[in-house]
Amino acid sequence: MQTQEQKELVENAIELAQLHGILKYLPDGQLTHAPFSLSPYCITKSDLAEMTELTAAFSELMISVSQNWDFLEHHLGPISANDPFLQMLLNCRTSEIMQSRQLLVQRNDFFITNDEQSPDKQNCSPEYETNAASLLRQVELNTVSVSFPFLATKLTQLHHYLYEQNCLKQVIQNNPLDAVVDAFAKAVRDYDIADSVMLIVIQPKEKNIFDQLGLEQLMWEKHKISTIRKILSEIYRDGKLREGHLVVDSKTVAVTYFRAGYTPDDFSTKDAVKGRQLIEASSSIQVPDLAMHLSGMKKIQQVLTKQEVLSDFVSPDLSGRFSKTFAKMHTLDEIIDTPEGEVSAAEWVSKHPEDYVLKPQREGGGNNYFGSDILNLLPTIRKEEQKAYILMVKIKPQIHSAILVVNGQAETLNCVSEIGRFGICFAENGVVKNNRDVGYLVRTKAENVNEGGVCAGFACLNTIADIDDQQESGN
Ligand code: ADP
Ligand code: MG
Repeated sequence: MQTQEQKELVENAIELAQLHGILKYLPDGQLTHAPFSLSPYCITKSDLAEMTELTAAFSELMISVSQNWDFLEHHLGPISANDPFLQMLLNCRTSEIMQSRQLLVQRNDFFITNDEQSPDKQNCSPEYETNAASLLRQVELNTVSVSFPFLATKLTQLHHYLYEQNCLKQVIQNNPLDAVVDAFAKAVRDYDIADSVMLIVIQPKEKNIFDQLGLEQLMWEKHKISTIRKILSEIYRDGKLREGHLVVDSKTVAVTYFRAGYTPDDFSTKDAVKGRQLIEASSSIQVPDLAMHLSGMKKIQQVLTKQEVLSDFVSPDLSGRFSKTFAKMHTLDEIIDTPEGEVSAAEWVSKHPEDYVLKPQREGGGNNYFGSDILNLLPTIRKEEQKAYILMVKIKPQIHSAILVVNGQAETLNCVSEIGRFGICFAENGVVKNNRDVGYLVRTKAENVNEGGVCAGFACLNTIADIDDQQESGN
């Protein structure tokens, strides 16, 4: 039961969320506030620092991986034989590199776990096993359609407004929006064609439109750069190549920003595929380019958890720091070492489905299998399809209490929080020019919910408040 005072506080917060543009559409078309938390997630300064420091290093890793097409093809090619969507993406590659400039806008998602005994702990390289200070676990690194720079920035403003006046929590400053917009503006200027624009590739029924509109508005306000929003088939209909430039509605496109194109649903027509190919054949700076997009695939994440693979791309020191954050990942046909001896990962997970997440090569939420759904799926996967799935140890994040506000209703629940660090990296022919961490996203959800999407209704936007490391250990 809420007191009158709590009820008013929640109502006030909802009005403020709407004022800030923290909005979304419900499936029936009604406008409501995006789900948000009223309880900033408290983490230690050292976890925050470690996560922030890792951003640029992970961006550099993604740039290096993206430069190695043979590596990408070696790991993704065999999967694509049974995955027409992946095959189509791989086939988009043109023989000639049309643009040597790269802009990566990535978000590296983590949970923080207290569970030192979790099976994923086995993955630590020996030199780090004694250093148990950090228990960060990477969920995934997103290289395509990195969402929420606008909404995360606005929620931070809202939390500051609510808490600072009452000297409550120290919400950590956060403005990924300005940094992302400035990066796009720099890329447009680098393209160096007068009055060129940024093309935003959107989904047919875009759910997260306010996050995009807020970004577009700031592009104009701050940099006087126009944006064009279109789905892939419209890009094919309205676009053409002129001397290598992509021209859409008579405007030269300097930057193509993908907020779509990562799921088969975005390619339901032949014209959509042609739209994707048209972009690829042009010299516009693609965020991300095809190789960066593929570098963020779950199969690539899984192979990079192997020391011998990772060490081809990064120094031993970085390899150790990265590995410390990796949860153990397998292919289904892999033979793994278990307390019951060596067995295939598929056999092991069929006995321990609650300890794993089974992931197909898909992005965008709602595609993963948990618990009994894994058991239902396993017998339907043909031998040749096994490669298309990644088995990941289920991370057990620390649990905290939070007030979640969803569609006008507030509820206090035991929750877990996933923190994403935004990274921006400019490179040219794989040589990094400018690379930094630019802020965070927190998504908080009830502890018993598996998936994590905000627009899909699983999770709530949140902020970080930091606490002293001593405070956490009870000193
Ligand atoms: P997507 O590309 O769909 O975002 P993710 O790998 O991020 O795929 O998984 C979606 C959600 O599932 C995450 O936001 C997280 O809440 C949950 N999840 C994914 N992997 C794990 C894991 N290893 N342990 C616990 N939860 C996970
Ligand atoms: Mg994700």
